[in-house]
Amino acid sequence: LATHRNPPAILKTKLQLPVKILTSPGPTNCSERVLQSLKNQVLGHLHPEVCQLMDEIKAGLQYVFQTNNRLTLALSASGHGGMEACLTNLLEPGETILVVKSGIWGERAADMATRIGVHAEVIETEHTSAVTLKQLEIALHRHNPVAVFMVHAESSTGLKQPLEGFGDLIHRYNALFIVDTVASLCGEPFFMDSWGVDATYTGSQKALGAPPGLSPISFSPRAEKKLLQRKTKPSSYYLDMTLLGNYWKCFGNESRVYHHTISATLLYGLREALAEIAEEGLRASWIRHASAAARLRRGLELRGLRSYVKIPQYQLSTIISIELPPGVDDTIIVQRAMKNYNVEISRGLGPTVGKILRVGLLGTNATFGKVDLVLRALEILPSKL
Ligand code: PMP
Repeated sequence: LATHRNPPAILKTKLQLPVKILTSPGPTNCSERVLQSLKNQVLGHLHPEVCQLMDEIKAGLQYVFQTNNRLTLALSASGHGGMEACLTNLLEPGETILVVKSGIWGERAADMATRIGVHAEVIETEHTSAVTLKQLEIALHRHNPVAVFMVHAESSTGLKQPLEGFGDLIHRYNALFIVDTVASLCGEPFFMDSWGVDATYTGSQKALGAPPGLSPISFSPRAEKKLLQRKTKPSSYYLDMTLLGNYWKCFGNESRVYHHTISATLLYGLREALAEIAEEGLRASWIRHASAAARLRRGLELRGLRSYVKIPQYQLSTIISIELPPGVDDTIIVQRAMKNYNVEISRGLGPTVGKILRVGLLGTNATFGKVDLVLRALEILPSKL
């Protein structure tokens, strides 16, 4: 006889969730407008209304990425999916990628590349300083890679990697330029076409201000050419950009070709988040993020706290990393901020655990009001003893 499991009693209780202020490196809080959109009934993934939404989202993504790339869409995945899609579509087993590692995200890209049989050469920088054109050129010369991977906003350290000039250099070495903009897009200036970026991806849940679950991605014509020249199919069907491009009608195709069931609900949220950014204007959004970060940095200084990244040009507006003063217990600070102020502050990540605290001022949370709240939540630093 088949055994029967009873329904779990816990599911008889009503769903009840708190509202928290998500000033961590992500996800961030959604605006009322985005939340309202999520209440709409589910629609089919090929219904005309959803197809229309996908077109609107594509136009919005071309705006936030600052690109004319036709192969621009949102993956049904979190930011990791975007990273995996770039690597699996743009590299073939046996090829070499040059990865700039300034924290855990470069390391993860190298790990992913290795898993698909790609040879990963890593240039490691200090946590608090970015790679320079000169350093990259030496590595390009030495390794002759097919692609270079960089992280615009290294959320584990708070480091900003300047990107201007790198596209031209990388193209001179006949390589593709892949950039992770998960923790920067909409909060930091980014110009995909002008900066010669061939592939980038972000996360819906960061400065874009939508719920997690979609990873906007864009491939340049140069990246598209690589798709055509591949000798093997990408190892992932789910993340195959040619199939996805057909579903998102990126190649001038007449009709959409079913690939997977995208979450209509998540599309509603992303559409509204993009509409809000379009209304505010990208430039205004960058300025708002920069002003909020500057206020936080001033406030931290007044409290005797120091930024982990010292060189202003390498400091991010989206994620602010704070040196943990000696003898201070980061776990207590994080717990107390949540308990007393309902405010989320993060500990370090990967190599920075125990060394820093991280504050994210992303999307709706990039305001003076949220900054002041974070400063209050950080005010008295409890000693380890
Ligand atoms: N890259 C960077 C720079 C990130 O900050 C994150 C998320 N913190 C990711 C990639 C991965 O994104 P996700 O957690 O949405 O998969």
